[in-house]
Amino acid sequence: MAPARQRQDDGRATDAAPAADPVRCVGHLDCDAFFAAVELLRRPELRGRAVIVAHDGPRSVVTTATYEARRHGVGSAMPLSVARRRCPEAILVPPDLDAYREASQAVMSIVRDEIDVVQQMSLDEAYLELTGMLAPRAALRRLVARIKRETALDVSVGIGPSKLVAKLASDAEKPRGFVVLDRRAAWRRWADEPPGLLPGIGPRTATGLEERGIRTIRQLAGVDVAQLAEWFGPRTGPWLHRRCRFDDDDPVEPVREPVSESRETTFSIDLDDPDDLERELRRLSLKLAEALDAQGRRGRTVGIKVRLADFTTVTRSRTLPRSIDDGELVAELAVGLLREYGPPAPVRLLGVRLAGLELVDGPGAQLALPLG
Ligand SMILES: [Mg+2]
Repeated sequence: MAPARQRQDDGRATDAAPAADPVRCVGHLDCDAFFAAVELLRRPELRGRAVIVAHDGPRSVVTTATYEARRHGVGSAMPLSVARRRCPEAILVPPDLDAYREASQAVMSIVRDEIDVVQQMSLDEAYLELTGMLAPRAALRRLVARIKRETALDVSVGIGPSKLVAKLASDAEKPRGFVVLDRRAAWRRWADEPPGLLPGIGPRTATGLEERGIRTIRQLAGVDVAQLAEWFGPRTGPWLHRRCRFDDDDPVEPVREPVSESRETTFSIDLDDPDDLERELRRLSLKLAEALDAQGRRGRTVGIKVRLADFTTVTRSRTLPRSIDDGELVAELAVGLLREYGPPAPVRLLGVRLAGLELVDGPGAQLALPLG
């Protein structure tokens, strides 16, 4: 990098050379065992127990587990049947998304209050742009303490020169982690881990690498970029080449307000009775309208989503001349769309969506949740 100021022969400093870019600094904040933590707040008798948040059904998967359950090898996205075998004493709690959205909103409004540029990734996860901030660590320590004080929820934080390093760092010492790393430190810490550790490297790429004898990030970094491009294509190859060097310049981009919101449900047994389907669609419509009402929003386009037993997925929608938020009306329109379609086979999943959302004036307007 060129020096920002150069001495000329006469000894005067000149500003001809541009100042160096400030070193990038990115934070990643992630609530610890979020859904389970929210459940423990209202059911303190479960503290210290192995708790799994999941629906009870044959196709059910674990959404979150407490650290007590994780010690038995239970993890997110694991089939519930496997989780139960690994930890038979675990207590099962059904998910309550409305409660999690509310808790999420409480956490994220504190984050946005303290940090200007926030990219929320999910209910409990966000990237924070910290570049140019004088004391980012102190700022995030304060943020963590304030979240704990005002919501009683624990978060883990990672700080690094990129989203990639920050994310890995926040995950490195959960729960209540606070890890600050630069690229070199990230390399020292993870070079001998499997490439699948790096966010964005999915199981398919990881398997592809393993088949070629590449089992660590260090080994991946030893492969020529042209070779990677030949194996994985002109986009993924060079991307892998940078990824394994912890090289990432993806910007922190604030997420726009969502333009639609939906509710859907997967049945434990495929449904084919039209009455059952309509009842379910009404229930989802009322739930959706209730949530939007609480956020002070309404929409103009009502849509349905129907997934058949063979995974064929069909959507239908209707746009109205004005926006609505009345649950009964949403339900009427959704049921009308379902009747028009007339599913030709048993239904596996049913959903309803309201799009073209706008804020309604009033006290609820500022409470709009930035995630659907
Ligand atoms: Mg989390």
